[in-house]
Amino acid sequence: AKRQGGNSFRFYDRGMHRASAERVALENDLRFAIERKELWVAYQPCVGGREGHVVSAEALLRWNHPTLGSVAPDRFIPIAEENGLIVELGEWIMRVACNECRRWHDMGRNGMCVSVNVSAVQFGQPRLIESVRRALDDAGLPAWGLQLEITESSLMKDAETAVAMLRAFKNMGVRLAIDDFGTGYSSLAYLKRFPVDVIKIDQSFVRGLCDDEEDAAIVRAIIVLARSMRLEVIAEGVESLSQVDVLRTDGCELFQGYFFGRPVEAERFRQVLSARSLS
Ligand code: C2E
Ligand code: CA
Ligand code: CA
Ligand code: CA
Repeated sequence: AKRQGGNSFRFYDRGMHRASAERVALENDLRFAIERKELWVAYQPCVGGREGHVVSAEALLRWNHPTLGSVAPDRFIPIAEENGLIVELGEWIMRVACNECRRWHDMGRNGMCVSVNVSAVQFGQPRLIESVRRALDDAGLPAWGLQLEITESSLMKDAETAVAMLRAFKNMGVRLAIDDFGTGYSSLAYLKRFPVDVIKIDQSFVRGLCDDEEDAAIVRAIIVLARSMRLEVIAEGVESLSQVDVLRTDGCELFQGYFFGRPVEAERFRQVLSARSLS
């Protein structure tokens, strides 16, 4: 029994060791990922109106690791947030995305905007304001061409500071979106004080929209709330026509999800844009 216990302990220990070794390896590799050009940005369309025009795109970070292949952002972003690398990664993607949006404008799609995710770690730092300003200036992009997505839960971490940060961006003319709305327990009183333009309904509610009465009720309530506060509302994770139908009936007119397009690399996205603009 003793021996067995020893073995199972050692097994457990080895498993733990492997998990942390992998984490350390990812962390080290991530430090060099930008200069080794292993990171790239995927763009996913957000469409609106009856014709389903592409009105904006969300920039999503991708990591093509030399031995592990594609590593999902859900795996490496938490690591980057813990060791602070997210600040550098965030500034990098901001510059890349602003330059890309400028190209869309130059193609004649001059109403487009690019939406960039901002981590709670970045959002807590005043230097974010200067780096956004610089990214816009260097790209020659008007401020409204950039939308910042901040999750509801990072806004609620320190809501008073969040209000001040949001105001600074609002004064710059940047568009602001609350990401993953419905999951972060913000009080409606705060929603009133956050000077945002857009609410993105979390995909967990959209997923259950057609089969779960409660998810359907939550989605409907968010849409009514957003519209009565004159905010735009985007449904995330839209995968089927039946979801689109329910969302339209409820009054939502902006959609993002696999049904309309998966995230794709910049060049492919530009092809999609020029093909669609012919119609
Ligand atoms: P998010 O900001 O909520 O982004 C939406 C996620 O949903 C993306 O996953 C996207 O690929 C996925 N998605 C879009 N449409 C559908 C759909 O119809 N069905 C399903 N099942 N999924 C859909 P992705 O790219 O793996 O990113 C995951 C999360 O990683 C993001 O969630 C965001 O929190 C974070 N992330 C990604 N890029 C960045 C970045 O540049 N900076 C920061 N701070 N976070 C990022
Ligand atoms: Ca997002
Ligand atoms: Ca989201
Ligand atoms: Ca989510």
